[in-house]
Amino acid sequence: MADELKYPFLDMERLNAPLADELRQATLRVIDSGRYVGGAEVEAFEHELASLVRAPYVIGVSNGLDALRLILRAYCLIGRLAPGDEIIIPANTYIATVLAVTDAGLRPVLVDADEHTMNLDTSLVEQAITPRTRAIMPVHLYGRACWDKKLVETVRSHNLIVVEDNAQAIGAKSPVRGLFGSDMTGALGHAGAFSFYPTKNVGALGDAGAVATHDAELAAAVRALANYGSDRRYHNIYQGFNCRLDTIQAALLRVRLAHIQDENSARFANASCYRNEIHHPQVRVPEFSVYLYDSVWHQFVVRVPDRDRFMQLLAQAGIGADIHYATPPHQQPCYAGTGLLDIPHPIPVTEALAREVVSLPVSSATTVREAAEIAHLINDFPTL
Ligand SMILES: *Cc1c(COP(=O)(O)O)cnc(C)c1O
Repeated sequence: MADELKYPFLDMERLNAPLADELRQATLRVIDSGRYVGGAEVEAFEHELASLVRAPYVIGVSNGLDALRLILRAYCLIGRLAPGDEIIIPANTYIATVLAVTDAGLRPVLVDADEHTMNLDTSLVEQAITPRTRAIMPVHLYGRACWDKKLVETVRSHNLIVVEDNAQAIGAKSPVRGLFGSDMTGALGHAGAFSFYPTKNVGALGDAGAVATHDAELAAAVRALANYGSDRRYHNIYQGFNCRLDTIQAALLRVRLAHIQDENSARFANASCYRNEIHHPQVRVPEFSVYLYDSVWHQFVVRVPDRDRFMQLLAQAGIGADIHYATPPHQQPCYAGTGLLDIPHPIPVTEALAREVVSLPVSSATTVREAAEIAHLINDFPTL
């Protein structure tokens, strides 16, 4: 059990403790308001997130996967994407990225990861483009912005729609500006999806998500689609869904959003500590970019040659760890035999990552002192 370890991977109770009073007050405010879906709390939260990421439109929704699904389905409904269109996505990602793509009837084209960032390798995108390519979905994996000059050039020259999976990177800043002037992940491209699953850097106490976009038409379509396809009361322009954000989660998220700098700074401090202190010859720590704010360290992912042994040593030392992700989407049984995730381009980096990655405790529930202790314990591990 994780909570029997001296250094838990992510102790949610400890994470929430500093904000517990504010979270309780927010909950009571909603109970007493008599309004439990939508309303002023949701509108205020949407406004606050919009000003954080500098996007003109934000729509609170039920979770991160729904945020992605709504964006892609809305693009199809307003005629800017069509089922069968190809969309470029990273092979090294969480399954939700891919589920949203196949849910909309789009064809995912998987591109390998970059050795240094573990994100989509932007230098491989050009050669993956075909006459059917209409969109690209960068995933800011492990909290690091996947955005550079090369990507912007490719997107502009092929007129691609850019949908960001920003589930892991709220608050990250890109050194290269986005298409509409913002440098915040989730607002770099045309539309971005956010997840507020409890373990994300900004977490609800339950499921929640959001869509941010620079496109008024898309915003209206997403809002309608998430509310039974209704553009006004009892008038349904789409065969929609119910993917709304609960008022209580919006109120809780306003608290968490107000403290986002505390969470992301604590993660940065822990990541820096690991980078400075881990010196085991076979534990490869992630690279830092010169531009320090491009990662919010959702995960601190090291690579080791013998992962089973490393996990065993971590457990013996009382250190919690996790693996993101041992089985990449294209190897998941749900896609076996479907032909949907055939790999037209080799993905050696993704395959190596799936064998070698281990995530260490990095959230604000771990102190820098504990991170230093973890680093020193790891340095004492024998050869892997
Ligand atoms: C968490 C996550 C999602 C899905 O978000 P949920 O709120 O859990 O539905 C999508 N993509 C990535 C990369 C994620 O980490």
